[in-house]
Amino acid sequence: MEPLRATIRIHDNFECTYLRAVSPNSHYIRGHLVGLAKVIFGKRVEIEETKCSAMGTSYCEFAAVETA
Ligand SMILES: [Zn+2]
Repeated sequence: MEPLRATIRIHDNFECTYLRAVSPNSHYIRGHLVGLAKVIFGKRVEIEETKCSAMGTSYCEFAAVETA
């Protein structure tokens, strides 16, 4: 079985929309997504913010990968 992979896109992320940063800025939301995956799907995942509106995109995007 392949590990679960998911992409989550958030528009108007309050952590990032009105900021400018040189690296992804959404640690609060990212942490909550890890918790939600555990509670809702019973999966342990690592989540990385791969695109961030604080860095110029119009949304924040997170890549989730199931861990062992
Ligand atoms: Zn962001």
